[in-house]
Amino acid sequence: MTSELSFACDCGTVTGAVRIRSGEGDHVVCHCTDCQNLTHYLGHAGRLLDAHGGTPLYQTRCARVRIDTGRDRLACVHMTDGSTLRWYAACCRLPLFNTVATGKLPFITVQVGACDPTARGPLLGPPRGHLFTHEAIGDGSVLPKMSMVTLMRRFFVRVIKDIVSGDRRRAALFDPTTLEPVAKPHRLTDEEKLRLPRR
Ligand SMILES: [Zn+2]
Ligand SMILES: [Zn+2]
Repeated sequence: MTSELSFACDCGTVTGAVRIRSGEGDHVVCHCTDCQNLTHYLGHAGRLLDAHGGTPLYQTRCARVRIDTGRDRLACVHMTDGSTLRWYAACCRLPLFNTVATGKLPFITVQVGACDPTARGPLLGPPRGHLFTHEAIGDGSVLPKMSMVTLMRRFFVRVIKDIVSGDRRRAALFDPTTLEPVAKPHRLTDEEKLRLPRR
């Protein structure tokens, strides 16, 4: 069964939808420092993180996400020297997606906080578990973990399907020919990193 879960930035400029197929994606909560710092960098920390500094995310196949409006307002940032690319709406700085630096490795994570609040619970179900609980705020040991082995196994199955099916060239956030991001990535400067609460 396939359903659509709509998303929008706070001001409604960037809108779109993610297609949900039962069993295909993974709803998780990430407590890593970079996810926490992203919300600080974008100015939304108090509102978007849970009591343990968690960010709810939905990992799925790269071509399941469609952008309907506001494509030219998409912006992206590297929080570290690594390859993770974090996408947000430049208009109101709401985080929207995570990918890697290019579309060659097909991967997308949708920020559940941007998705329709009444539909996301029934469509995504409860999180499969929590990631990076050792970086959580407070006592992360109380959080049910998702095993990295399980997560990576499911991640690679989606990557292979996206490459074999050609979906890698149908991803909304990357140029179909070059597989480069459709917005120019910014990498945090040393000064910007110094302003983050967790390092
Ligand atoms: Zn906006
Ligand atoms: Zn994270």
